Amino acid sequence: MNNEGSSSLTGQAQAAAPDAATVEKRVIEIVARCLDRKPSEVGLDSRLWGELSAESLDMLDIVYSLERAFIIRLPRLNLLQRARELFGEDTVVADGVITPAGLELMRLSMPEIPAASLTPNMGIQEFRYIITVESFVRVVHRCLEAKARIRCACGGLPAPVPDSPMELRCAACGAPLELPSGEQLLVDDLVQAGKALNLHPPGFAETAAVPLK
Ligand SMILES: [Zn+2]
Repeated sequence: MNNEGSSSLTGQAQAAAPDAATVEKRVIEIVARCLDRKPSEVGLDSRLWGELSAESLDMLDIVYSLERAFIIRLPRLNLLQRARELFGEDTVVADGVITPAGLELMRLSMPEIPAASLTPNMGIQEFRYIITVESFVRVVHRCLEAKARIRCACGGLPAPVPDSPMELRCAACGAPLELPSGEQLLVDDLVQAGKALNLHPPGFAETAAVPLK
């Protein structure tokens, strides 16, 4: 990789984030490849589980491939799992069914999902069946936006590290820069959505370190 003869170090900083159409196209291509389908068989509103017959390993493959393609760190848990951990089991799920507050939280947090898909008394096992390709597009955008805001303490912009595709460093001073955590972005979004519903994570600072059951 050469730097096209750029004269300043900051000139090597990463190009602007890809536009929405480019992100959508690449996500569809990656999902299709991971599921052995043609891109034409995959739409933004295609549901991964069920409709596209994705399985757990396929989902990991998709997440891993998207991370490499966009140089981002995606969350490993879906929103419902994370919300249960964050707001407490009883708030989001009761007797294996997503509570009305839990459904409202998912509705606010996943604007790409048609409201009709979030049906009352939806079981926790059903939740994954509503996740669409566009859900991945939303999360990829969220991670790209956060990445675009990375600045070094010196004010420098992030630049790729040769031969280490998942790492960034400051284009000005060379300090290593961390990619934003997709997990943390998901938590931030859930906390925001929760505020709108007057839901607050109970003692989140203390419970955050407790391993998932
Ligand atoms: Zn710097």
